[in-house]
Amino acid sequence: MEADRRHFVELHGIRLFEQNGGAWAMINASCRHLTEEGRCGVFGSPERPKTCEDFPFVQTDIDLVDEWAGSKVCSYSFEEVIV
Ligand code: SF4
Repeated sequence: MEADRRHFVELHGIRLFEQNGGAWAMINASCRHLTEEGRCGVFGSPERPKTCEDFPFVQTDIDLVDEWAGSKVCSYSFEEVIV
């Protein structure tokens, strides 16, 4: 991405970076559907984006969010299963 466009996007609170072969956008804002109890207010409804259903893919996704926030913010985790 051209430097000026990257700068423009990042001025709006979105951090762009590449890691592990993928392009990432960190959006420093809470979803308007996040309830005060920390739950999804549109869970199970068509309004919930498919992206929410898919994320996180791997433990690294969660680690990145926690690293970016500077503390453990995501309560989700993956459990290693030996088969
Ligand atoms: S799961 Fe998606 S729609 Fe629901 S609160 Fe989180 S970001 Fe918002």
